Amino acid sequence: MPWWTVLATAVILQCGTQISLLFKYDQGVADYYLPTALSVILIHWWGPKVVIPMMYINATFSTYFWGIPADRWADWFLYAIPETSFTILSWFLFRRVFKGKYWLPDIQSVVLFLVVGILVPIIPEIFALQTLLVFLGDQTMETFWTYVTRNWLGEFTSTFGLALPVLFYVTPVMKKAGLLRKPDKDIPEPYPIRRRVVVELSLIFCVLLLFVFLVEFHRFWYIYGLFSLLVGLRFGFGPAVLTNYFIFLITYILPKIIASINEVPKGDADVNAVFLGASLLFVSAALTGRVISDIRITKGKLEKQNQELDQTNKELDRFVYSVSHDLSAPLKSILGLVNISRITKEPNEHVNYLDRIETSVVKLEAFISEILDYSRNKRQDIAIEQIRLKELCAEILENLKYTNDFSRISVDLSQLELYEIRQDKTRLKIILNNLLTNAVKFQKRFDGHLPYIKISSRKTSDNDVLIEIEDNGEGIKSEMQERIFDMFYRGSEKSPGSGLGLYIAKEAAMKINGRIKVFSEYGKGSKFTVELKNLNAN
Ligand code: ADP
Repeated sequence: MPWWTVLATAVILQCGTQISLLFKYDQGVADYYLPTALSVILIHWWGPKVVIPMMYINATFSTYFWGIPADRWADWFLYAIPETSFTILSWFLFRRVFKGKYWLPDIQSVVLFLVVGILVPIIPEIFALQTLLVFLGDQTMETFWTYVTRNWLGEFTSTFGLALPVLFYVTPVMKKAGLLRKPDKDIPEPYPIRRRVVVELSLIFCVLLLFVFLVEFHRFWYIYGLFSLLVGLRFGFGPAVLTNYFIFLITYILPKIIASINEVPKGDADVNAVFLGASLLFVSAALTGRVISDIRITKGKLEKQNQELDQTNKELDRFVYSVSHDLSAPLKSILGLVNISRITKEPNEHVNYLDRIETSVVKLEAFISEILDYSRNKRQDIAIEQIRLKELCAEILENLKYTNDFSRISVDLSQLELYEIRQDKTRLKIILNNLLTNAVKFQKRFDGHLPYIKISSRKTSDNDVLIEIEDNGEGIKSEMQERIFDMFYRGSEKSPGSGLGLYIAKEAAMKINGRIKVFSEYGKGSKFTVELKNLNAN
């Protein structure tokens, strides 16, 4: 990451320290502690090499503000250890050991973050800090347990409150802006802001704000939690953790700014229990919200899959109908020809019938090979390999050699600029085979016409390839061009094929994230372009 992330980390952590000082309760004890929350966020964005040293430096110098004077500077280095170790342990457990997703996309990652990202690493931190405070004579054993609870709650609430909404909402924005070190490919696009949610949430926030002025938090804390829970149930994870944080701001921070709001009395064990109860409600609101969001995501996926299944079923129906029709037509014609030739005495006629039978058999064979291509494309896994384009084209053309009039066509392969690509050979062969077969099949047949097929290929970027197949054949009417890729669409009743070729080619292209486009002028010729990824470069 660039140098400025180091500077930004230092500034953000120091700002966090200064805000937390407002919540200082005693030497080394605070109701709200931001640097740990901020470092847990930053370490996922910019990595431990940037954040850990900055965190230690910030904690060392900030010890002064927490009441350890300059003449005891050696102690600063000791006091900085617990919170730095919290961030290291949190990152190590969540990211390294459990491979957690820090953008919190599902219930597993949220629970994992809560447990191994916050709850577990806080325990050694708080104990180490409290022990140091007693050991270095800044506190006595009398307050040990009260302060352990106090600090634990302060840190849990601040880390949980801030880290969840920021990691969830801001991480996708950071990725989009290119500000993450090693961004994970699964991090989604920034979440859209829906108007209805904004309006309803704003109303709820207004009610909550009113509440702060009217009732005391330590008596009616559960109402806030219930609001959060409600938001979680209604809108899901993001809005729930935003509401949690808003409540936290108006019940913790606002009383520091506006004197008329009753501040929560501190230090007493009952109040600690209130904080614990409120935190638990906020945690359950976040978890409920996550579960609701997960259910919605799964439901959406299921609906999409159902639609696709429906579509596939319809296509299958049509497919079976057309296939049986197209298979039986040439078979019937063969049968008819066999019967006629049985009763014909004329030997010359027999040759004629055999020719016609051959035509039907060739047609059948072509059709069956198309169906095999279709099934191969559906069934076979993608297998990337090095493909020599010229050789592949030559192989396909070799098979077309025996088709009608092929010898009249001049084939130009001189513009294959790109010789080799890494792609799935089965799909590419299906695509090129169909396009070349059509280029041969739909040539104009009259004397004086010099039919040609031009095949060219070139790089359009480091990873993109364009293959073009051009002919000077019949061309395609513009109103037909949209439909030629449909299943069983044929340009005319007289068209020799089954109407499956381009459909299969399009499906095969889609399977390898490619695209086929048609450019054609009726009467002049057609050009089909195939856009593909060249996986060489990756
Ligand atoms: P078919 O099996 O009939 O060739 P395709 O799906 O391959 O089916 O093509 C659909 C229709 O598109 C064809 O019937 C034909 O009218 C038109 N077509 C495809 N390629 C060409 C081409 N190179 N030149 C002219 N027409 C074409």
